[in-house]
Amino acid sequence: MSTLARQIAADFPILGKKVNGHPLTYLDTAATALKPLPVIESVTHAHRELSANVHRGVHQLSREATDAFDRSRETVQKFLNAFRSEEIVFTSGTTASINIVANTWGRSTLKAGDEIVLSHMEHHSNIVPWQMLCQVTGCVIKVAPINDRGELIMEEFKALLNERTRLVAVNYVSNALGTINPVKEIVVAAHAVGALVLVDAAQAVACLPVDVQDLDCDFLAFSAHKLFGPTGVGVLYAKYALLKSMPPYFGGGDMILSVTFEKTIYNEPPYKFEAGTPNIAGVIGLGRAIEYVTSLGFDAIGQHEKMLLKLASDELSRIEGVRLIGTAREKVSIVSFVIDQVHPHDIGSILDSEGVAIRAGHHCTQPVMARFCIPATARASFSIYNTEEDVARLVGAVHQVRKVML
Ligand code: PMP
Repeated sequence: MSTLARQIAADFPILGKKVNGHPLTYLDTAATALKPLPVIESVTHAHRELSANVHRGVHQLSREATDAFDRSRETVQKFLNAFRSEEIVFTSGTTASINIVANTWGRSTLKAGDEIVLSHMEHHSNIVPWQMLCQVTGCVIKVAPINDRGELIMEEFKALLNERTRLVAVNYVSNALGTINPVKEIVVAAHAVGALVLVDAAQAVACLPVDVQDLDCDFLAFSAHKLFGPTGVGVLYAKYALLKSMPPYFGGGDMILSVTFEKTIYNEPPYKFEAGTPNIAGVIGLGRAIEYVTSLGFDAIGQHEKMLLKLASDELSRIEGVRLIGTAREKVSIVSFVIDQVHPHDIGSILDSEGVAIRAGHHCTQPVMARFCIPATARASFSIYNTEEDVARLVGAVHQVRKVML
């Protein structure tokens, strides 16, 4: 077993679970990551010991909850290398973060004829909010194509940029294909025509170090649950000047400085975008998840995942009738595949009966499926807790699929 997986096995008690009489082989981290004990304990601790509202009470418990909540913001700031902690807005996840940008910056800035450039490999969360924005403002979406490996065709992407381009919104890592996009190069090209860049980092944060100052992106979104943290919490990073100029999205408590029936004065960022009681335990859990990942180190994580990616890709592509979808030269350990004459849902069900949890479907990327002329894929995604034995179980179960179905 690889050193990293051995070192942390005890942190993931759910891996001791039996599924359909087999040990659980969890290969669905791209959908949501398993939670390590330190995260589970920090969320429990927040509910047991700090169960008070933040930024409101003068009592001791509320101060403790507020301190823990605020510490998480600083942890996220350091994790992303943001210039200041006020650039970190807590949201309910990547989807919410992108919708906030579309509905605040987008609605207040874009006009008919303005252009938004997306890649062909975006998650629906980074397509639909922009389509909704187009309906309201009359702006239009341009789509940068991908090649047969599932890589963005950079020349064609750059050819789409012009003085009408106001925003480029791309994922750092594709959840369907595993492709790592050259975000830094994308940002330079977009900024050269005066466009802003939103990075959907939902799949990136658990695999790669993400440095917003180095990338120089304008907005970045991610979800805690893909980073070994709780569900229902996420982050919107934006450069401070943008947050300052953007109107708020939700109105309510905490996002105001003063309210009369005649006029409300809004609070400063990030609070301007955090109306209502936040997911306090979730935010605290996110902070703990970041500490956990950081303590493992992205070098060790990257090495481990590369080893699993190569092993799984080699072994699967050797099986007759198996075709990998997404073979980018730069990719994370996500392996999407199809088997001739077998629907991916059947693959998923038979693998489940063997205790192997993968994802089967369009992965909220129907345009990617259309690009490869397939209805769906089976997707195995590997993470820090997966082992070579997990790859062997996957491969064994895929042989079983062929036996049952063909
Ligand atoms: N973008 C990408 C690339 C994703 O993988 C996901 C989750 N599958 C999302 C956006 C949406 O994340 P969430 O559902 O946590 O808001």
